[in-house]
Amino acid sequence: MSNPYIEKAEEAILHTYNRFPIVFDHGEGVHLYDVDGKKYLDFAAGIAVQSLGYNHKEYTQTLKEQIDKLTHVSNLFYTKPMMEAAEKVIKASGMSKVFFTNSGTEAIEGALKAARKYAYEKDGEADHEIIAMNHSFHGRSLGALSVTGNEKYQIPFRPLLPGVRFADYNDLESVKAQITDKTCAVILETVQGEGGIYAATEEFLRGVKALCEERDILLILDEIQCGMGRTGYMFAWQEYGVEPDIMTCAKAIGCGVPVGAFVLGKKAAESSLKAGDHGTTYGGNPFVCAAVSKVFDLYEKEQIVEHVRTVGAYLTEKLDELAGKYDFLKERRGKGMLQGLEVTGRPVGEIVNRALENGLVVITAGSNVLRFTPPLVITREDVDDMVKRLEASF
Ligand SMILES: *Cc1c(COP(=O)(O)O)cnc(C)c1O
Repeated sequence: MSNPYIEKAEEAILHTYNRFPIVFDHGEGVHLYDVDGKKYLDFAAGIAVQSLGYNHKEYTQTLKEQIDKLTHVSNLFYTKPMMEAAEKVIKASGMSKVFFTNSGTEAIEGALKAARKYAYEKDGEADHEIIAMNHSFHGRSLGALSVTGNEKYQIPFRPLLPGVRFADYNDLESVKAQITDKTCAVILETVQGEGGIYAATEEFLRGVKALCEERDILLILDEIQCGMGRTGYMFAWQEYGVEPDIMTCAKAIGCGVPVGAFVLGKKAAESSLKAGDHGTTYGGNPFVCAAVSKVFDLYEKEQIVEHVRTVGAYLTEKLDELAGKYDFLKERRGKGMLQGLEVTGRPVGEIVNRALENGLVVITAGSNVLRFTPPLVITREDVDDMVKRLEASF
């Protein structure tokens, strides 16, 4: 670790991450290059962000033009990019209203506030509870952390938000058991990402939705990682036919600029956050919204979702082959281009380090899962190349 950039960075940057000792310089398509010129095949995409790959010319051109025009004016005014981005989010989701944030965790904060306000509008009380899932991940700010079912992240920061109850993912009875007269929302990831790549079963998601409808509880689906085409649907819930009352987006929605969103269905939009209830200085500024708007255009033009279905099926097949071939690979989980291989009997971190040596970027999820979240533009040849480099790392 004698790299001068790394030493300098560690002198100045708060050490909240154990970073890999690599200094990246630039990217091109599905490849990253470090400062020494070494090339890496990227199956992480900056944690499910760079869906269109690196240095996408049409995308970067749009950003450059917007920088020259206007980057920020605050939410006290309208801008064209914000209007266009909002229109495209609404069209793609079929939902009602959107609020742009600067990150995923802020999208969660907004969703939680909207749910509490919805319940407050009904009974005038301010004591409503939220049901979240064990092994979930929703972000690092205190509200999002409060619904993140992972004690390791929570303990030092208590007390957290009161009124949060935890249930087991894919266990409808355990959700039922946590419902009280005060429940205002159930929040879950349509596919759990950080927790180890677990997709909701159809029975579970439909069951939770029915329960929410019956009790007038809002269903919040966190699509920050699994949304934006990654599972072969623009939003993962569309495969289940279960529309949330509130959806959260971030990561790939801007393909590299810091932007997120929470999106409200009709019911939540009509009776929750009103003028003065929520705000952000940067959120939805013309720079990030030009990116969001272009991302939706390029998804359509390049038929990204269809591409994920075909190449994602190939990735699934190849990962299944690996899981069948190696004893230490317990199982493959996931959908489309959000995949995990569960590793047993050996440290997953060792495989990741060797993969990096072999010019392949893969990351982990949970404590023992290899996670694959490549740019959505990967080809079959890239999948073959990944498999070759991964096998060399076993
Ligand atoms: C990454 C992630 C978040 C948090 O997003 P940030 O932009 O890091 O704040 C929330 N939920 C899920 C499912 C995520 O994957």
